[in-house]
Amino acid sequence: MDTHSADVVVIGSGQAGLSAGYHLHRTGFAPGSGFVILDADNGPGGAWQHRWPTLVFDRVHGFHDLPGLPLPPTEPHRPASEQVSAYFAAYERAFDLPVRRPVRVRAVRSRPDGRLDVHTDRGTWTARALINATGTWTRPFWPHYPGRSTFRGRQLHTADYRGPAEFTGLRVVVVGGGTSAVQLLGEVSTVAAATTWVTRRPPTFNDEEFGPELGRAAVARVDQAVRAGRPPGSVVGVTGLPVTPEVRRLRERGVLDRLPMFDRITPDGVAWTDGRFVPADVILWCTGFRAAIDHLAPLGLRAPGGGITMDGTRVVADARVHLVGYGPSASTIGANRAGRTAVTEIRAWLSPAAALH
Ligand code: FAD
Repeated sequence: MDTHSADVVVIGSGQAGLSAGYHLHRTGFAPGSGFVILDADNGPGGAWQHRWPTLVFDRVHGFHDLPGLPLPPTEPHRPASEQVSAYFAAYERAFDLPVRRPVRVRAVRSRPDGRLDVHTDRGTWTARALINATGTWTRPFWPHYPGRSTFRGRQLHTADYRGPAEFTGLRVVVVGGGTSAVQLLGEVSTVAAATTWVTRRPPTFNDEEFGPELGRAAVARVDQAVRAGRPPGSVVGVTGLPVTPEVRRLRERGVLDRLPMFDRITPDGVAWTDGRFVPADVILWCTGFRAAIDHLAPLGLRAPGGGITMDGTRVVADARVHLVGYGPSASTIGANRAGRTAVTEIRAWLSPAAALH
């Protein structure tokens, strides 16, 4: 297998990886020997390319342009996946970003000479610093409930959802209290024979407009968690679910009458210890995602709290490693900023004199 070398290896070409790439290029890192972006997907778009086709652009909650090149005018009823992927492709070309794909990173290891080895299915890259921008899409979270394997119907996760049509006439249980759960419930409820919404905690709806203040509060809470080495929590846990006109309509139709989490799954549905039972053909798990960082395990970055202790984008236990699009920067605006912060810090760290300019 080939061996390559670059000052900085970026893993992932979603919003966070492209922002990092833009700032690396702009601050003088040469494409190739200065930096490279490795991405496991076949095409541009990061996780956006995989989002369900019924997620059209006007249902996206605030997409922020990448630095230096605005998103061209969007078509509100065309899938966000197509429009964002086309934009990311144009962005990579416009800034001559050295994206290598498909290249899947399997493991990152420390070398005796202080560098890092980035092992992939296409050879090894040696780097002085690493910007990890691998998002969460490839790590859907499925909570465990007794009886799950006995269910005779279909179980799928948000990551597998392709639109409501295939649920026509079926009885669907939707699990999860986040925005994806509400969106998918809304779509499925228009064609299903019945929908049942279950969440662990009563959902908090927020009638306030989702403005910068709420956003800042959410980011601050997640930032506090990762600075203390805890796993990053959910942003909706802080902001509540926004009450959009669609949510109002769903409430009026009774679709959002939620039940507490069931206690077990039976072959034909879901059951509670108080004797309640809901028959189901499908369980749709909208239970979120976790950071896709298993390949960093050999670096031993985990803190006793179960997370990775961070100072901004920098991993406290290893100054060579920055995580962008992780925790408080897991949004399009956060990813943009994190890319810039990581590059500023890495540049200063690799060459202290450069930081003065
Ligand atoms: P991604 O876009 O996930 O990109 C990660 C890239 O890393 C992928 O291309 C993947 O192939 C690659 N990769 C992963 N593992 C490896 C590996 N081992 N080796 C090589 N490559 C790898 N944010 C908003 O601001 N507004 C919204 O409306 C919004 N809606 C969302 C809806 C959903 C369902 C989800 C899950 C998130 C949403 N977000 C939204 C969050 C937002 O999409 C992301 O936080 C943001 O796009 C930053 O993405 P990223 O670059 O961190 O990761």
